[in-house]
Amino acid sequence: MYRIRRAAAAAAAAAGGRPMGRGLSTSRVAQTTSATLKALGLDSYNLGVYNGAWGGSGSIVETLNPATGEVLGAVQQASARELSETLDLATAAQLTWRTLPAPRRGEVVRQMRQAIADKRQALGRLVALEMGKIEAEGVGEVQEYVDVADFAVGLSRSMAGKVLPSERPGHAMLEVWNPLGVVGVISAFNFPVAVYGWNSAVALTCGNAVVWKGAPSTSLTSVAVTKILAEVLEANALPGALCSLVCGGEDVGAQMADDRRVDLLSFTGSTRVGLQVAQRVQARFGRSLLELGGNNAIIVHADADLDLALRAVLFAAVGTAGQRCTTARRLLLHDSIHDAFVERLVAAYKQVRVGNPLDPGVLCGPLHSPAAVAAFEQGIEDVGLQGGRILCGGRALRHLPGFFVEPTVTSIAHDAPVVLREVFAPILHVSRYSNLDQAIQWNNAVAQGLSSSLFTASPEHMFRWIGPEGSDCGIVNVNIPTNGAEVGGAFGGEKETGGGRESGSTAWQQYMRRQTCTINYSGALPLAQGIKFE
Ligand code: NAD
Repeated sequence: MYRIRRAAAAAAAAAGGRPMGRGLSTSRVAQTTSATLKALGLDSYNLGVYNGAWGGSGSIVETLNPATGEVLGAVQQASARELSETLDLATAAQLTWRTLPAPRRGEVVRQMRQAIADKRQALGRLVALEMGKIEAEGVGEVQEYVDVADFAVGLSRSMAGKVLPSERPGHAMLEVWNPLGVVGVISAFNFPVAVYGWNSAVALTCGNAVVWKGAPSTSLTSVAVTKILAEVLEANALPGALCSLVCGGEDVGAQMADDRRVDLLSFTGSTRVGLQVAQRVQARFGRSLLELGGNNAIIVHADADLDLALRAVLFAAVGTAGQRCTTARRLLLHDSIHDAFVERLVAAYKQVRVGNPLDPGVLCGPLHSPAAVAAFEQGIEDVGLQGGRILCGGRALRHLPGFFVEPTVTSIAHDAPVVLREVFAPILHVSRYSNLDQAIQWNNAVAQGLSSSLFTASPEHMFRWIGPEGSDCGIVNVNIPTNGAEVGGAFGGEKETGGGRESGSTAWQQYMRRQTCTINYSGALPLAQGIKFE
């Protein structure tokens, strides 16, 4: 959550001194906030543009702690002119960077990985404070950056082209991969470190400069990450513009989409905005990579290990307060286990502690903003209107400071309109099915195609699920939750999820240009026969 400066002081005053969650006082949260900002070189006011030098002359945005409503700090955003200057500087910086051999670029990315890892705890805590996920998840998200950076360092020695057989004598054909130029990254609020991390680690290794616009409501995290990377670039006498930052909102994002100097625009966010961005980029015949919304299902079949499935469903539906793109939003239960499973699930939900994400006993933190709470309430209302029932939860916790809601389980038809759309909140819709083919069909019957899981003990069902008649999603899991994919293989989905691949075996190819080269070493060119060349 963020706001333009003026209104913020009143919110801070209003929230001051109230108890937070269970056992965490606002003074303790305030102390943690100032220690965390200090550890990351942040202040109460920060510049939000970096392109070798720090600047910022756009609006001043104050980001809020979603658990308290209090102001964390202010970041001055980029103006249109600053974005344009930054794109020039990034373009110039890439000209040198692209000539460095890939393994040497990988070595710089390795140093960045180490610098991020050294600040893992403080960065993870800042993510908890600013985004609202629990601290363990904040630290885990930073670790994802570290892991993908490891992956990218390995890639720097293995991004291989090909030598192809030519049909002409004395000719060789090669497939050669070259850097694209400038990669723009627009990221969502819910993964304020990892999404940028895995884009930038791979894009830099591929020889590109990166220009990043994070979500305005997580601007402090964007500045903190960029400060860490800027130090590494400086220590290597490399231009800072290779890791440029342009904090901003819709205006800056739209300008990035329109600008021809952005050779690839990697966008992570909602399907609605992703479509607009893709159309703008397409209008200039540019290239985009889209990681958009999900509406993920877990199927628990009759032969599943129910203890395993129960744990997985709870984690997948409640973790990050339902604000992961891979959150489980739909639960399809076989008739034979439906009633007992629901009973145990509801009992488990009742033990989930909702509260301040810094409190180690808390599993479910706040939603990110009041708008998210309103979307949750709309979702709950729709369940009632569309013939569903609330099995547990269902209320916004408006008596608490911050933006808390109850993790919710509903019972509803698999094709009710509210089930078919992504409500970015901890609402899990349960439906029952009678045979697996039907459940797979229901899994696939939504517009999104991000993640999916089947719980079963049968190899026959497992292979059906991952085969041509199975799930149509980008992530297809068996006996682990929808958000349990491995780094390096994670992310990328089909249909309205956008079809992008920011990670995984061939993801690097999206950050490069493939060129097919034919080399004639025969000394002859049997073309235009019959013409005399004087
Ligand atoms: P959002 O679409 O509202 O915003 C995403 C980014 O786009 C932000 O940086 C925002 O400032 C920017 N933006 C807004 N309007 C723009 C415009 N007109 N032009 C260019 N940029 C613009 O999404 P959000 O609420 O921040 O994030 C939640 C959504 O992101 C969910 O739908 C979630 O599923 C999705 N998500 C997907 C993945 C994935 O890998 N598939 C990962 C994380 C989040």
